[in-house]
Amino acid sequence: MTADLFHHLDAVLERIRSAPTVWLGTDFDGTLVPHAADPGDVALDAGTKELLRDLATRPRCRVAVVTGRSLADIRRLVAVNEIAYAGNHGLEIQANGLDHRDAAAVLAREPLERAALRLADELVGLPGITVQDKRLSLAVDYYASPMEIRRIAVSAIDAAIGGVPELFARHGVHGSEVRPVGAGHKGTAALRLREHQSGPDALPIFLGDERTDEDAFQALPDGITIRVGDPRPTAARYRVDSPQEVARFLHRLRDTLAS
Ligand SMILES: [Mg+2]
Repeated sequence: MTADLFHHLDAVLERIRSAPTVWLGTDFDGTLVPHAADPGDVALDAGTKELLRDLATRPRCRVAVVTGRSLADIRRLVAVNEIAYAGNHGLEIQANGLDHRDAAAVLAREPLERAALRLADELVGLPGITVQDKRLSLAVDYYASPMEIRRIAVSAIDAAIGGVPELFARHGVHGSEVRPVGAGHKGTAALRLREHQSGPDALPIFLGDERTDEDAFQALPDGITIRVGDPRPTAARYRVDSPQEVARFLHRLRDTLAS
């Protein structure tokens, strides 16, 4: 059962206060910033950057951004050196002393490129659609598209990967992802980053808003897992409404770690 985070905030902050160390993992789009019609049209405000840096430099806290964007893209958008990054839903990871690229994803590069070219050909130009080849995975965003265009996109994706054993698709609310079969995900990335940055005993906190974040919620059953957005079935323990509420929680987290 998922509970409203702010109804249980005192208990959550108490758990954080009494934990030896804390590992904070967070998604980016829809979690730290609102979704934008064009994913290229997003900026992280200076206050949130400063907050992430502040949290990451607390002795008891480490921070990672775990996103569907490519590693290069997320590093450019967040631009905080003190934190770790996982791109492509965890298929590429960079932290201090860690540089990881998923082997299954590297092997699936050729079929992925073929699917990207075919989908660009069929879908680019339709209202609200963007197709992004992120090298290790492929994103089709249709956040700003009318329902019939979304349906066309989903059928085109299913057709493009039909009979391609290396790839599978996941269709979400804001867009679809084409990913390599057998590769890691946000859950494997969260566990790897927590272990690397903080050690296995750190209390994990994970924030995210999309289906791919469910992998991280499931991988951290004892953690403080927080789904952002409308109530809907989730493995997360808590829920907040919006990126504004995420910022409000992160401020309280900072105050707790500082006290
Ligand atoms: Mg998201």
